[in-house]
Amino acid sequence: MELPRNPTRAVRIGSLTIGDGNPIAVQSMTATKTTDIDKTVSQIHQLEEAGADILRVAVDSNREAEALIEIRKQTSANLSIDLQENYRLAEVVAPHVQKLRYNPGHLYHHERDKPWQEKVAYIASVAADNDCAMRVGVNCGSVDPAKKDKYDPADSISPMLESALDHCEYLDSIDFTRYCVSLKDSEPEKVIEVNTRFAEQRPEVPLHLGVTEAGMPPDGVIKTRIAFEQLISKGIGDTIRVSLTVSNDRKYEEIEAGRSILDDIANGRVRSFVDFGLKGLNIISCPSCSRVENEAFVELAEDVRDMTEYAKEHKITIAVMGCRVNGPGETDDADLGLWCAPNFVNLKKGEEELGAYPYDEILGKLKAELDALIEQRSSEKV
Ligand code: SF4
Repeated sequence: MELPRNPTRAVRIGSLTIGDGNPIAVQSMTATKTTDIDKTVSQIHQLEEAGADILRVAVDSNREAEALIEIRKQTSANLSIDLQENYRLAEVVAPHVQKLRYNPGHLYHHERDKPWQEKVAYIASVAADNDCAMRVGVNCGSVDPAKKDKYDPADSISPMLESALDHCEYLDSIDFTRYCVSLKDSEPEKVIEVNTRFAEQRPEVPLHLGVTEAGMPPDGVIKTRIAFEQLISKGIGDTIRVSLTVSNDRKYEEIEAGRSILDDIANGRVRSFVDFGLKGLNIISCPSCSRVENEAFVELAEDVRDMTEYAKEHKITIAVMGCRVNGPGETDDADLGLWCAPNFVNLKKGEEELGAYPYDEILGKLKAELDALIEQRSSEKV
């Protein structure tokens, strides 16, 4: 079946080109500590063997940048580097990779007196000097606060969209066009809406699609499939990532899931849109990455899923996040949120912080809060 494709421009990422009708590339991100060179190289090989076209690695510190340089020597994969606040690491890593990803929301927090335009100009000049592509990666949990303040708090889509459009306009104005954009949310419907609206305004900009914190299989795959089916069948999307909460030895499942979703869509095996999984209990959990604070995170996410089975008819969202970089922000919109620190887990109810508890106590605390919430919701209905 011939699927429509938006007329996106070609963006070369090392040996691969996305956009301009090229096959939709499938990517993933390492979840090992970047400083653990052997484990990270081995995970890159595992993902490559599964068919990954691009591998993303987080680099937040000089030590991680040094490790990345060693990792580079042991793989010829197309590598993308995930920069957060410490965007100046771009110049250290760019000579060794094919793509730089920055998050407009995270750029805001570092060197606050400096306009974001200056920071983006710096990253773009480093990318241009080192033959790298870029991704402007906008994420629902870390939207530029200046954009958030402009809109009704109930409208989470407009700030993301405006942030992405502003960054595209600025990159174009400085003649850097070798970039793609991602707009990720944990809710498939929002991913569909924000990417559709972006593609209407900038149909020539290649899009990297993903449902962030989709969670564990099979639910995480289903949520992602819902979004991808609606977008890819309309010609939107040039590269994808399926974000799954799985242990390091199962990370290849992200690539397998991505390839199988693409294959199904290409062969017309598209299911009609259903609000699957969102009418009852919705557990969102990050796919974990090198920033994860404690390796017990994946087990914790699985324990939360098992423990909350009894509440599956209730329309409640529980977020389980692996670290302090994205955990505090990305749990704000959930009814109950957990984010991991090295020795304890933070518990939240919406934006309210309820406390921090050891790993062996957190499930009991979560259950008490969940029970109270169910009770509160049922008394509100009466
Ligand atoms: S929440 Fe933290 S550990 Fe999880 S994927 Fe995001 S950055 Fe990585």
